[in-house]
Amino acid sequence: MSEKVYDVTAEWSSRAYIDDAKYLEMYAASLKDPVAFWGEQGKRIHWFTPYTKVKNTSFDPHNVSIKWYEDGVTNVSYNCLDRHLATRGDQVAIIWEGDNPNEDRKITYRELYEEVCRFANVLKARGVKKGDRVTIYLPMIPEAAYAMLACARIGAVHSVVFGGFSPDSLAGRIEDAGSTVVVTADEGLRGGRKVPLKLNADAAADRAGGVESMIVVRRTGGSVPMRSGRDVYYDEVAKNMPAECAPAEMNAEDPLFILYTSGSTGKPKGVLHTTGGYLVYAAMTHQYVFDYHDGDIYWCTADVGWVTGHSYIVYGPLANGATTLMFEGVPNYPTIGRFWEVIDKHKVNIFYTAPTAIRSLMQAGEEPVKKTSRASLRLLGSVGEPINPEAWEWYHRVVGDDRCPIVDTWWQTETGGILITPLPGATKLKPGSATRPFFGVVPEVVDANGQVLDGACEGNLVLADSWPGQMRTVYGDHDRFVQTYFSTYAGKYFTGDGCRRDADGFYWITGRVDDVINVSGHRMGTAEVESALVAHPKVSEAAVVGYPHDIKGQGIYAYVTLMSGIEPSEELRKELVNWVRKEIGPIASPDLIQFAPGLPKTRSGKIMRRILRKIAEDEFGNLGDTSTLADPGVVDDLIGNRQNRR
Ligand code: ATP
Ligand code: MG
Repeated sequence: MSEKVYDVTAEWSSRAYIDDAKYLEMYAASLKDPVAFWGEQGKRIHWFTPYTKVKNTSFDPHNVSIKWYEDGVTNVSYNCLDRHLATRGDQVAIIWEGDNPNEDRKITYRELYEEVCRFANVLKARGVKKGDRVTIYLPMIPEAAYAMLACARIGAVHSVVFGGFSPDSLAGRIEDAGSTVVVTADEGLRGGRKVPLKLNADAAADRAGGVESMIVVRRTGGSVPMRSGRDVYYDEVAKNMPAECAPAEMNAEDPLFILYTSGSTGKPKGVLHTTGGYLVYAAMTHQYVFDYHDGDIYWCTADVGWVTGHSYIVYGPLANGATTLMFEGVPNYPTIGRFWEVIDKHKVNIFYTAPTAIRSLMQAGEEPVKKTSRASLRLLGSVGEPINPEAWEWYHRVVGDDRCPIVDTWWQTETGGILITPLPGATKLKPGSATRPFFGVVPEVVDANGQVLDGACEGNLVLADSWPGQMRTVYGDHDRFVQTYFSTYAGKYFTGDGCRRDADGFYWITGRVDDVINVSGHRMGTAEVESALVAHPKVSEAAVVGYPHDIKGQGIYAYVTLMSGIEPSEELRKELVNWVRKEIGPIASPDLIQFAPGLPKTRSGKIMRRILRKIAEDEFGNLGDTSTLADPGVVDDLIGNRQNRR
């Protein structure tokens, strides 16, 4: 496929913190002497007791151990709140935009400080102590941020569970984390519909056992059962609490939170992040990747239930004294133009969303976007999946009016922060490429035998050295941590993703390694075939998997969702096969195409190819863990309409 390049504009290279020369200089310095580099960067947060040791990390599979700033003492909530009071007490910290467009709120740093202290005092009064795990099951309301920061303030470890998860999924996470305290709301509101959070939490608590205290935030005011002795309404217990609470002294390596991965590849993992290194890394990447300057209005559309919400709605932005927008609703309510309307309403400068949202909004055409101004926008971002070049171009041209660079940020729950990404003042852009490593990040491409490949190449993506935001362990299961990430390629962190490096040294994530297909000896990333399909004007989404094929080893099975108003037909099937043949080559032409009204996605919007693979392989009796599916109903339709393999 043709490779387009967008150069950094003169305006961007002069306004940004980092231009290309500075990137190259700092990147080289970060590799040459990581201790000096990260020792300096660590100073961007406040330490009650400064660290003397910067880095102590080992990827040796017999002794995996990751420690950063290990003798430093600090507190994450102090860094996000107290530190800013003198200079920005009256500045807006959080802009909250409700599901209903008539509801919004602005919370200053001083107000946020007081709310967090009050919340911390409530937790203490409910018996929560340093090291205890608190499960947070809330909608996207400011109290979600208060609760997270309140845990950080007193040294409790939060485990945020996305409010869209079922009682079963919540129960599994409460149990795994051993939480005795759950924070929830009466009901959530999404797209005008109520979500029965308290009822779900009750069912989950019954299933998990061990929940001694439930703190219920009133969101809708709907009546919900309250269990006496266990449940309290937050407002009732908070109103008498002081708005002061001393921050706990936390060691840099004390746990900050547990967060379960999306479950795209299997059973979710309880990823554990700690205090000092995580915050330094989240703050630094937020500043440089989004080129955040004082006064900017920044909006990340993720849910706080995902790592993106942790690092780039709450911790990174607040550590930097930013104004961060938190959105309760969904992209298509009450109108399909909601994102763009919110951008105009709050004069958003930096907008960070996911390819799944972009692809679904593309389906509605340009008109809903173009009737808004979006003049405040300066920078766009993408995260969560490879972004198809077609979607990238649309985002750039239609949303950004050809004016805003796009940072395509590759990272994982495990990495704590962004690892491969353009910097808007430094990096030229290639649609579909996450481009270059961030400071201190050492990506390598290896073949199946672990041989490190040079120059332009394609293989599996590993990281050769640690960075401060890296996860420290799988909660309660260090062996699984070692097994999953350090046993495949000894001495390296294995990402599970495939990637290609081009002649400019740019990285292209080709999808998960499990999703790579091998057709007649040619290895292909699913992302490439999917991008070709999505580039067809009648296709809105596509997912490609391999299935056993007598002659080719693997055949290509494509699930295709059409643009609204387009009818499936045999002609269209042939047209799509020919299209892919022309775009990539005969080797990539799909053997089977199934038209699917919907694809199985995780709650975070990612396509679960492992389920599609099972259906393509006729093994739909054994689909594995489907608890993180957004809409389990689509699976039946897919099974019912599967294509015959012969
Ligand atoms: P699980 O690990 O449970 O299967 P998951 O990998 O989907 O779930 P996350 O940590 O939320 O959980 O997602 C990280 C993965 O998302 C990456 O490993 C990569 O596959 C994909 N990803 C994220 N950002 C990008 C990006 N910009 N380009 C390509 N892929 C991306
Ligand atoms: Mg993963």
